[in-house]
Amino acid sequence: MTSPSIVWFRDDLRLADHPALRAAMDRDAPVIAMFVLDEESPGIRPLGGAAKWWLHHSLLSLDERLRDKGARLVLRRGPAERVVHEVVAESGAGAVYWNRRYGRPEREIDAALKSSLRDQGLTVESFAGSLLHEPWTVTTGSGTHYSVFTPFWRACRALPAPRAPLPEPRELDGVARPPRSDAPGDWELLPTTPDWAGGLRDTWEPGEPAARRRLRHFLDHDLPAYDAARDAPAAGATSLLSPRLRWGELSPFTVWAEATRVEGSARFLSELGWREFAWHTLYHFPDLATKNLRPEFDAFPWPGLDPRQLDAWQHGETGIPLVDAGMRELWHTGYMHNRVRMVTASFLIKNLLIDWRLGEEWFWDTLVDADGANNAFNWQWVAGSGADAAPYFRVFNPELQAKKFDGDGEYVARWAPDAPTAPIVDLAETRKAALAAYDEVKRAG
Ligand code: FAD
Repeated sequence: MTSPSIVWFRDDLRLADHPALRAAMDRDAPVIAMFVLDEESPGIRPLGGAAKWWLHHSLLSLDERLRDKGARLVLRRGPAERVVHEVVAESGAGAVYWNRRYGRPEREIDAALKSSLRDQGLTVESFAGSLLHEPWTVTTGSGTHYSVFTPFWRACRALPAPRAPLPEPRELDGVARPPRSDAPGDWELLPTTPDWAGGLRDTWEPGEPAARRRLRHFLDHDLPAYDAARDAPAAGATSLLSPRLRWGELSPFTVWAEATRVEGSARFLSELGWREFAWHTLYHFPDLATKNLRPEFDAFPWPGLDPRQLDAWQHGETGIPLVDAGMRELWHTGYMHNRVRMVTASFLIKNLLIDWRLGEEWFWDTLVDADGANNAFNWQWVAGSGADAAPYFRVFNPELQAKKFDGDGEYVARWAPDAPTAPIVDLAETRKAALAAYDEVKRAG
């Protein structure tokens, strides 16, 4: 009998367009589907609370889908290198397949595993499944990576078009006796004391089938108005695909293929381009979540932290209606509209003069789409320290932003009808202080 193949699921919790799963099927041997919760390997960033909630439900959904097809999901916890070797030894697997990851610690784990498993005689293959273009394939004329979005995206568009998505398997040949599996409940990914996930449950349905329905609905109903309405937080005009892409319930190839068929999708497609740009930036600059991409920002004179101000921002008690509405939407649903993410981030950094890293951490803990690249990339974009970033001296005025993008106050009324009305800081004064602090960066640059 042929030794089984392991498909190691990571940020790709789906059956459609899963090249690693396809490779296992082509090998014509029984399949072991596995997910490893790794919170111990050096450099791996522990998941935030909202992300854990999503993961729990998405794993249940994946397991159900695998069972329908004849396999099941094996759940194991521990440092990935050790755990993968254990499951190989227990199952006598002859091959291991996965789709690539792009963060440095993840790449190091995968590279070490690839070589040690191959040394043992196993077949090990990795595939492109999470990005439209591999980071090392998009380079400038002189062979370096892009630091500005427009030429980056132009270069991507000049490459061969992203491949067509692979169909999902009709059935799977699971192993007769799968290796031992944890139960999802063992991992305590759901909040219990207190259970703060009610708003998440009301808002989201994790899992591949719901993700596909959402994509269909967006393309059929919302895409035509996307360009015009995407900046209005009350309009519900955006795709809400970010957690689905984060967890790989949809592959970008699927979204790309289906969206390109719809007329007028260029703007939406370029947002997928920002996702690519963020991930390519992380690939070339692995410390994106902790280090200023532009080192002159290390000279920024952050004043001592006033924890009461940070707390007011986190809980939507700043007295600035649009900021409070955004932070409350985030707390309740694990999501915040992109325009409001920019405004709340700018307020934290430039009106409260609080280090962007503290904002990034809060978003990391509270967003269901908290993403290793997109979150840090966008925080640095707002801070001015990142790739192709907004200039630091561009301070969003939350009152003008509210007038422009929430003119009838619908969004603020939905999320912060009873928020305090006395601002904790004076917008004009703090803007001046921020610009003065920025002078130090200019001197260092
Ligand atoms: P749509 O407008 O429908 O866009 C489609 C897809 O394109 C999104 O699902 C997302 O995958 C991608 N995309 C859109 N805008 C961006 C962007 N600016 N950068 C990178 N990719 C983008 N996005 C995350 O996925 N995870 C994060 O942790 C995250 N943190 C952010 C933090 C800050 C401070 C800011 C300003 C933005 C952040 N974003 C993050 C980007 C953006 O706000 C979300 O991707 C978007 O709001 C998700 O809603 P949507 O799926 O309806 O977007």
